[in-house]
Amino acid sequence: MIAEVVINRTARRLNRTFDYKIPKDLEELIVIGSTVLVPFGKASHLVDGYVIGIKENTTYEVKEIAKIEHNLTEKQIELATWMSKRYFCNVSDCIKQMLAPGTKNKSTDRGVQDKTIHAVYLKKDIEAIELDIETGKIKSEKQKRILLFLKNNEGTTVSEIEMLTGGTRAIVKTLEKNGYVEIVEKKVERNPLANKQIPKTTNLKLTDEQENAFKAISTSMDKNEYKEFLVYGVTGSGKTEIYLQLIGEALKNNKTAIVLVPEISLTPQMIDRFIARFHKEEIAVLHSKLSIGERFDEWNRIKENKAKIVIGARSAIFAPMQNVGIIIIDEEHDSSYKSEAVPKYDAKEIANKIAQESNCPLVLGSATPDINTYYHSLKGKIELLELTKRANHSNLPEVEIVDLKMELANGNRSMLSVKLHDAIEQNLKEKRQTILFLNRRGFSTFIMCRECGYTVKCKNCNISMTYHKTENKLKCHYCGYEEPVVTICPECHSTKIRYFGTGTQKLEQEINKIFPDAKTIRMDIDTVTKKNSHEEILNKFRDENIDILIGTQMVVKGHHFPNVTLVGVIAADSSLNIDDYRANERTFQILTQVAGRAGREKLPGKVIIQTYNPENFSIVCAKEQNYHMFFDTEIALRKQLKYPPFCDIILIGFNSLLEKEIIEVSEKVYSYLKKNLDNEEFQVLKPMPSPIDKIQNRFRWRIIIKGNMTNKANEILNDCLKKIFESNYKNTRVSIDVNPNSMI
Ligand code: ADP
Ligand code: ZN
Ligand code: ZN
Repeated sequence: MIAEVVINRTARRLNRTFDYKIPKDLEELIVIGSTVLVPFGKASHLVDGYVIGIKENTTYEVKEIAKIEHNLTEKQIELATWMSKRYFCNVSDCIKQMLAPGTKNKSTDRGVQDKTIHAVYLKKDIEAIELDIETGKIKSEKQKRILLFLKNNEGTTVSEIEMLTGGTRAIVKTLEKNGYVEIVEKKVERNPLANKQIPKTTNLKLTDEQENAFKAISTSMDKNEYKEFLVYGVTGSGKTEIYLQLIGEALKNNKTAIVLVPEISLTPQMIDRFIARFHKEEIAVLHSKLSIGERFDEWNRIKENKAKIVIGARSAIFAPMQNVGIIIIDEEHDSSYKSEAVPKYDAKEIANKIAQESNCPLVLGSATPDINTYYHSLKGKIELLELTKRANHSNLPEVEIVDLKMELANGNRSMLSVKLHDAIEQNLKEKRQTILFLNRRGFSTFIMCRECGYTVKCKNCNISMTYHKTENKLKCHYCGYEEPVVTICPECHSTKIRYFGTGTQKLEQEINKIFPDAKTIRMDIDTVTKKNSHEEILNKFRDENIDILIGTQMVVKGHHFPNVTLVGVIAADSSLNIDDYRANERTFQILTQVAGRAGREKLPGKVIIQTYNPENFSIVCAKEQNYHMFFDTEIALRKQLKYPPFCDIILIGFNSLLEKEIIEVSEKVYSYLKKNLDNEEFQVLKPMPSPIDKIQNRFRWRIIIKGNMTNKANEILNDCLKKIFESNYKNTRVSIDVNPNSMI
C-alpha cells in the first residue's frame, strides 16, 4: 500500500503530496490522518508529515514510512484540505491547528497541583526579532529556534523549551540578557478551575423573548438539524442565560457544546457563570495565557470525552470535540474570529462547516451584529431571534454628543470638553467610577518639526515613529525599531520640534493635573504586559474602587463594573479615518459597546462622546443605540459602492526585499488574473503599492479584486499562486486573503 503524505513544512512549493510505501507491519495502523516520520530530500533526519490519502500503487520509486506517531481523524484531514484551498495555505499549516498543543511531549508536570513555574515571553515584537534573524544579528541556530518557537508558544516554561527545541537553560538566559525574552515567575494552577468555589446557579425563568429564542434553537437541536441562528439582543438582554440553558439541553441529550468568545472576554467572570451552572469537570477552557502543559491537558480531557463544554477563543473551534450538539459564537461581530496569521481562517466559517457535519445548530450572538450576518438574517439564510429588552430591567445609559469643533472655537484646548470635565467632577464627588476611552492606539503621539513639517519615520517601514514617554524613545509599532528622541530637526536644524497627538499617557497626565486627588489607572499596550494582564488591571480598578480608568480598545469588552456610571469617549473619530470599508461599522460597534459599560446595574449611566464629526451617522446611531437605523444607512452605502455583503474583497498581498522583483511578480499575477478571472462578475484592479509600502525593509504591493468568491474563482486563484511558487521569485512572498480585517 502507498500513503500520500504532506510534509510538515511551510514552504509553499511543498504544498503537495509525496508517495511513500507503507511497510507491512504498519499496514494495519496507518490510516488517513496518521502522523508519520519519513525520509525526505537531503535532510539527514526524518521529517514529519501527515497521511492524507491511501492508494494501491504509485508510478514513482518510493521510500518507506519510517514511523507512525499519532492519529488525526479522516474528518479533520478533510477539513484541513478544504481550508488549504479556501484560505490559500498549506495543508500542513491547517493540520497543525488540530494537533494537541505540544503533541510530541507529554506535559511534564502532570498531577502536580499549584506550583511556581518560570514562563518565557518574548520581550521584543516578533517583527523586530525576525528582522534581527534575517539581518544576521542573531547567529546562533539554537537561539533562532527558541525565538521562533516562542512566537507561537509564549508562556512556555524553560524546561518545556529545552524539551521541545533542544535548546538549553543557558541559551534562554543569554536571550534574556540580550533583551529578547523575559522570564517571568508565575504561579500556575494545574487545573485552572480546581480551586474555584462558585455558588451554584439554576436556570432562570426565561422572559418571553428569551423563551422564544430558546425554543427555536432547541427545536433544531432536538431534530438534529443544522441551522444557523442570529441572537441579536442589546447588552444585558440575557443572551448568555439562553446559551447556558441551551448547553444544559445539549448535555442532557449526551451531546457536547463549543462556545467561542473573543480572547479578551475570556475573563474569570465569564467562565464563572459556566462553572456556576455546570460541573467543573465538564468544562474545558482554552486560551493563550495557558502554558503548553495546561493546554495539552485540556485538549486531552476533550479528546477523552471528559470535558463536554469547551469555552475558548478562535482556535478552540479545532478542539477534538465529538458528538457536538451546539456551537455558540458570542460577540460574533468581533474581528478576532478571523485569523490574521497563516492559516488565515475565519472561525465562523469553520464553525459553520462543523455544525453542518454534526447536524447541529450554530448560534451567533451579538448586540451589534456584523453587517453581513444581519443582512443574511434578513434574507432568510440565518434565522433571526431578537431580544429588545434588558433582562434585569436596568435602563440603557443616556448618551450625549459633544462637538469638539465648538469647544475649540470657544477657546478650550484641553482634551476634555466642559461637559465631560463637569461630569467627571460630579462623579468624583459622588464617589462613582469613570471610564475614559481613547479610540485605538494609532492615536498615539508622533513628532513633527513646526518649521518644515519633518516627521520622524521608521527607516524600515515608512511609518511615523511613536513617542514613548517613560523610556523617552521613539518606537516603530510595526517593527519595534527604536531611536533616541530628536531635539533638532535633521532637515532644517530648527529646534521647534513638537509632540503631536493624544495618547493615553498624555491623557492620564492631563487628568492628574486637572483632578489631582483622583486615583487613576491606565490600560493600554504599554501597561498591559505579560506580567500585568488586562485582567489584573481591571480587577484592581474594581476592587480598589479606583476613580478613573483610562484606556484603549481593551476597556471595551464584556466587563461588568457596577459602580461605573460615567463613560467618556475622548475622540470618537479616529476609527472613522482608517482606510477600510468597515470604518463606520467599527466605529458604531465600538461606541455602542463602550456605552454599554455605563450603568449596568441599578445606578443610571451616562455616556459622553466627544467628536469632530457630530453629524456622522455611525456616531449618531451609536448615540441613539439604534442598530436598525445604522444598518439601513450602512447597507445602502455598501450596495452602492459594492462592498461586502454584495461582493467579496480579495486582497493579494506581495512583499519582497527587491523592488524590481515585486513589480515583476505583481504584474505577472495581474495579467494572469486579467486574462482568466476578469469578467462582468470580477473586477481586478491594477497592482499598486500598499498604503504602508514598506515594512521591515520589505516592499509591499497589492492587487484588489472585487467579486463574489466562487469555487471556480478559488481554483483560478490557487492555480495562479501555484504558478508563481513554481517560478523563480525567491525574494517575494505572495498571500491571498478574502475580506481581510485590515486593508493596509
Ligand atoms: P447578555 O449576555 O445579553 O449581555 P446576560 O445573560 O449577561 O445578558 O444577562 C444580563 C443580566 O440579566 C445578568 O445579570 C443575568 O443574570 C440577568 N438575567 C438574564 N436572564 C434573566 C431572566 N430571565 N430573569 C432575570 N434575570 C435575568
Ligand atoms: Zn525642520
Ligand atoms: Zn519599523
